[in-house]
Amino acid sequence: MDVTDTIYDVLVVGGGINGVGIANDAAGRGLNVLLCEMNDLASATSSASSKLIHGGLRYLEYYEFGLVKKALAEREVLLKNAPHIISPLVFRLPHQPHLRPAWMIRAGLFLYDNLSKRITLPKSRSFKFDQQSPLKSDIKKGFEYADAWVDDSRLTVLNALSAKAHGATILTRTQLVAAETVDGIWHLSLLDKASGETLTVRSKSLVNAAGPWVENITGKVVKERTHGLRLVKGSHIVVPRIHDDEHAYILQNEDQRIVFVLPFEQDYSLVGTTDVDYQGDPQDVAIETAEIDYIISITNNYFKRQITRDSIVHTFSGIRPLLHDEAEDAKAVTRDYTIELVTEGHAPLVNIYGGKITTYRTLAEAAVDKLTQVFATMKPAWTKQAALPGGDFTDRETLMAQYAKDFAWLPAALTARYVRTYGTIAKQLLTGCETLADMGEDFGAGLYQRELDYLVANEWATTLNDVIWRRTKLGLLLDEQQKQRIHQYMSQIA
Ligand SMILES: Cc1cc2nc3c(=O)[nH]c(=O)nc-3n(C[C@H](O)[C@H](O)[C@H](O)COP(=O)(O)OP(=O)(O)OC[C@H]3O[C@@H](n4cnc5c(N)ncnc54)[C@H](O)[C@@H]3O)c2cc1C
Repeated sequence: MDVTDTIYDVLVVGGGINGVGIANDAAGRGLNVLLCEMNDLASATSSASSKLIHGGLRYLEYYEFGLVKKALAEREVLLKNAPHIISPLVFRLPHQPHLRPAWMIRAGLFLYDNLSKRITLPKSRSFKFDQQSPLKSDIKKGFEYADAWVDDSRLTVLNALSAKAHGATILTRTQLVAAETVDGIWHLSLLDKASGETLTVRSKSLVNAAGPWVENITGKVVKERTHGLRLVKGSHIVVPRIHDDEHAYILQNEDQRIVFVLPFEQDYSLVGTTDVDYQGDPQDVAIETAEIDYIISITNNYFKRQITRDSIVHTFSGIRPLLHDEAEDAKAVTRDYTIELVTEGHAPLVNIYGGKITTYRTLAEAAVDKLTQVFATMKPAWTKQAALPGGDFTDRETLMAQYAKDFAWLPAALTARYVRTYGTIAKQLLTGCETLADMGEDFGAGLYQRELDYLVANEWATTLNDVIWRRTKLGLLLDEQQKQRIHQYMSQIA
């Protein structure tokens, strides 16, 4: 289909979690949707988060009860709808009486337990660290509470897959470069970065979900006033596992900030994050030495196993596109979202400011609800009850057991990775394979030709980094030669 022949109902700019969430919601309500993403899906903030589906315990200190309640409720919804890529995670909070008194933490955890209904996640508790604790021996008391872990970039890709299944067109490496209204319809210039060609598509409405670039769209593309955005950088480091248990740790620091130490991809710990005001181009964001040293020093204050700059195997940084709320301190700026519908001076435009991975689904629902003014016969909201692609099963153990039976020839570690990456989609990926040899070339670290072909054909993967950092996290395991071979193979089949 030629995209220039159609007048779309909605054109969404931005293939981060908020853009794909909105495209999915709108397509499922019967609207004709086109989404354009200037790079890869989740190539910006939505692959650089701490990867938590959480209420945000520390936001209670800023009286953000509405945000925390909304986010807490989403944990159970998302755990049910995407059990392959989202799993419960128990956090341990070592007690440091001089930073926050026990009564304050207990009060926060009481609210956390009760602000929203918990179905599967356990209640918080206090406990004592024993001799086996990975923490320094002077840390004796702690608290435990549960949130959830998510593969953020896969959550983004799965929403795009669902949007496509509901009829949406998803164009990656396609940048919105200009927009004007002609006779009440948006005429939008899209630059195809692969061919260098610009095409004009038409749409009855425009959704600006460009994350850190939201003001670039409002200011330069649509040429209207801007709302006020505060860009706050956050960085993470990945190091070999600092502790052997399956818990996450939440460490309090003297500056009142907290740092997470999270189990990551079996053998690693993900540690972060920072809050640094950012003025540069979001595309160039990268970790600074001062951030690395900050993260290392807090971690070493708590854990017996010490880390150094040499321990680092990977880093990533992202920009929080936060709504400017006049807070002095970057860590205190609200993490909630604002959605505005502007209809004066041009065709309908919905701007998205702020938000969390955790609240993307409610944000998408609210954004599409705004469009009922434009599309009166639109179907009602539907995503709360809908499994994401590959998520139509109840628990990972049962699916693992079924795959171990159906694909007995598949190594157990690969079956486990397929379950937590693809869920039931793995059946489609493995169709027709009866032995490991049927999977084609072995690129290393458990990446076979069959998976790579699937990702290129179905999940918009076109470059090495799309595959090894966003569709999978195999970049942690592959060596340079293996990466080169994957790049070469992808260039051949592109
Ligand atoms: C360090 C850090 C930690 C975080 N941790 C958590 C967490 O643990 N849990 C949580 O819930 N949230 C967390 N967040 C917040 C969460 O990551 C963000 O709120 C969310 O990813 C924002 O998604 P988005 O879609 O708005 O933006 P993005 O993911 O940045 O997507 C915007 C997209 O728009 C595209 N784009 C821009 N301009 C154009 C154009 N002209 N044409 C086409 N495409 C364009 C960009 O390429 C980009 O891909 C964290 C954020 C950071 C930075």
